[in-house]
Amino acid sequence: MPAARTRMTRQRAEILAELRKAKNHPTAEEIHARVRRALPKISLGTVYRNLELLAQSGEIQRLEGGSRGRRYDGNLTPHLHVRCLRCGRMADVCGAALEPALDGLAAEGFAILRSRIELEGLCAECAAPPDSSAQPLQTPDLEPDSGGPHE
Ligand SMILES: [Zn+2]
Ligand SMILES: [Zn+2]
Repeated sequence: MPAARTRMTRQRAEILAELRKAKNHPTAEEIHARVRRALPKISLGTVYRNLELLAQSGEIQRLEGGSRGRRYDGNLTPHLHVRCLRCGRMADVCGAALEPALDGLAAEGFAILRSRIELEGLCAECAAPPDSSAQPLQTPDLEPDSGGPHE
């Protein structure tokens, strides 16, 4: 069906446009929230699938965010990233790129093709003193003896 194909392209173009606008290396969930303004019926699965396709075709960068989840970058210029150890937020690193020279490196049984460096740190929010505005982490479902009918 040509209609399905057109919709596919429209979705992908919308996702790509949002990602290029975003400067904060969003997750698939964040992209989904943005794209829904233009395409209210788009599902998270569709967004995720299209992001993976765009990454495979080299139109966007996929950033493995560790346990905090995968993030995406519409900026294809080579640059380094720093990841917040607490919240997983990622930002671009300014300054001289420090990619190691691959010449002269060898690993038995491997052809080395590229390197990927990810810096780690704390974002401004996470580095702020805890007494400023941060609320203590509390689990709200710790009610003592909620509604026990034994009385
Ligand atoms: Zn943080
Ligand atoms: Zn970036």
